[in-house]
Amino acid sequence: MGTKIIGIDIGGTTVKGAIYDNGILINKIIQKTSKTNPLDTTMQVIHQLSKNSKDIAAVGIATAGRVNSNTGEILYATPNLKNWAGRNIKRDVEETLGVPTYVINDARAATLAEARVRSVRSLFFLTVGTGLGGGLFIDGKLIDGNLWEAGEVGHTILYPNGRKCNCGKHGCAEQYVSMKVLHRYAKIPLNRRPQLISYFRNKDEKVLLAVDKICSDLAILIDKIFLMIDPELVVIGGGFTELGEGALQILRTKVGIYSSKSLYRPEQVELSVFQNDAGLIGASLFAIRKLEEGA
Ligand SMILES: [Zn+2]
Repeated sequence: MGTKIIGIDIGGTTVKGAIYDNGILINKIIQKTSKTNPLDTTMQVIHQLSKNSKDIAAVGIATAGRVNSNTGEILYATPNLKNWAGRNIKRDVEETLGVPTYVINDARAATLAEARVRSVRSLFFLTVGTGLGGGLFIDGKLIDGNLWEAGEVGHTILYPNGRKCNCGKHGCAEQYVSMKVLHRYAKIPLNRRPQLISYFRNKDEKVLLAVDKICSDLAILIDKIFLMIDPELVVIGGGFTELGEGALQILRTKVGIYSSKSLYRPEQVELSVFQNDAGLIGASLFAIRKLEEGA
């Protein structure tokens, strides 16, 4: 059996793919997600990665949406990914490629990656990217939940009757905490991330205010998470991490407003060590685990 694993991370903006050989990254590519058929983009990325590489042992796929990881079926997806809900990605890829394929929600995959590098028994992972996702790791185990929805805090309501969400509800946390929202507050287009980051580092007032606003709302969510689950850590991932320590300090100050009324501490909020690659690494870890289980 080969030792190479392909990890894929499918998001509304990009599809990322990488080959890991015994855990070491040997090739990585990124493509813009097709607006009409994200599976096309995914297959292109997989083919590009596998064409010069024999002995691919498995493919691990992390994707936005709610996923039944036993069957590989997408149970639910917002319109960020077109024609996604109802698809069986595991079957689609296995039929074309003939390699065992395992599918997991992207935030849950990232949770696995974070838990792996930290010596904690429990953590909650929050990805602040194009959207807002989460994953729950308790007593050394990833929690799937009964209907594969555990960790979907992005669609818990932060402001009743608030902004309309693409899930159909109003006031979901994702409409207040995401990089999309941050760019909108800062009045910098979403495709100009480097500009946003450099303005933030140079303490541009408008960008600082935007980050402040996002962190205020994020802190409300983090307080709920600590009081509901009491994890050792809440780890923040996704595009937000590109803002670095400065943003973490702002967030911790906001968290402190609430933590001062409880036992948890702002220092229990940390940034992802993988930045934007946690989903990709988590997808490959998930595939390795499934292979070992003989699934
Ligand atoms: Zn929603």
